[in-house]
Amino acid sequence: MKIAEIHIYDHELPVKNGPFVMAKALVHSLNTTIVKLVSDNGLVGWGETCPVGPTYAPSHGAGARAALCEIAPGLLGASGLTPLSVRRVMDERLNGHRYAKAAVDIAIYDLLGKHTGMRVADLLGGAVTESVPSYYSSGVGSPEEIARIAADKMAEGFLRMQVKVGGRPVEMDIEVIHRVWETVGKGMRLAVDANRGWTARDAILVSQACRDIPFVIEQPCNTIEEMVAVRPQLNHPVYADESGVDINTVLRLIEQRVVDGFGMKVTRIGGLHAMATFRDICEARSLPHTCDDAWGGDIIAAACTHIGATIKPNLLEGVWLAQPFIEGHYDSENGIRIVDGHIPLPSGPGLGVRPDESLFTQPVASYG
Ligand SMILES: [Mg+2]
Repeated sequence: MKIAEIHIYDHELPVKNGPFVMAKALVHSLNTTIVKLVSDNGLVGWGETCPVGPTYAPSHGAGARAALCEIAPGLLGASGLTPLSVRRVMDERLNGHRYAKAAVDIAIYDLLGKHTGMRVADLLGGAVTESVPSYYSSGVGSPEEIARIAADKMAEGFLRMQVKVGGRPVEMDIEVIHRVWETVGKGMRLAVDANRGWTARDAILVSQACRDIPFVIEQPCNTIEEMVAVRPQLNHPVYADESGVDINTVLRLIEQRVVDGFGMKVTRIGGLHAMATFRDICEARSLPHTCDDAWGGDIIAAACTHIGATIKPNLLEGVWLAQPFIEGHYDSENGIRIVDGHIPLPSGPGLGVRPDESLFTQPVASYG
């Protein structure tokens, strides 16, 4: 089975009740990029990558599409059965740009699954659950608002809540954390995510002021060097998210004992093949981690759910989906949904979602 056609689309995903507020960004709408691979035996594989706007990470929608246009001609005629060799073909045509290559990697797994009749989770080593725990992420908000959201989400069945902080006086962050803890107590595990928005001073002040509240601190500061400097003065475990840009950096963060776990995004690290490598490294060192994507629709949500289903349950901090924040589905029947804080693993071959192609009418570029 060889790749015969490649089509690249862009698509807008407005944020429901937006904007979503993070320490360094307001998110009103997301520009996602869809990849459709058609094989020479007529199968179709779908991939997606959706950066959270242009400032969250060194990536953006137009950048993804430009990178894919650079890569695509070299993929025509390549095997649709071998994700590793496809990744090497992509690396030979373009340095870096893992977030763009991830869309092709996901589409290859979808094709491979449809060709073999297997689910992507089983191609990635085997599902350990049919109901993958999700977690909910609040935006940055007032103590009252975030405590109310935490209570609502606990009632819905979420086991974990990520509280966004940063980008304002740190005293407000401390008040939010206390209010959420008073509201949900031991009913939910908590993460506090500064999205690179704290100074080392802020991180120390929060950790000391919330010494008796159990939570993990996610990506407190902008650089790895700042996290190295601040870590001995913190009372809480530290996870890296934005700093975990590739496998090499993940190994560095582990070896230098900078972190106790990770927030990891499937597209940032390069797709499902790289995410499986990351999963195995974390399992070897008993490091908990999330399995998320930035944003995106049913395709990326399915990819995250499939790899999430393969992670050792005691190490999975949850799979974050954008689904609660966006309207509608690409696949109205099999679209990925969160039910009682958990995501049912799709049952069909490949990713198990079949996008309505009328949503993606005009490709940005086509090859083959
Ligand atoms: Mg994060």
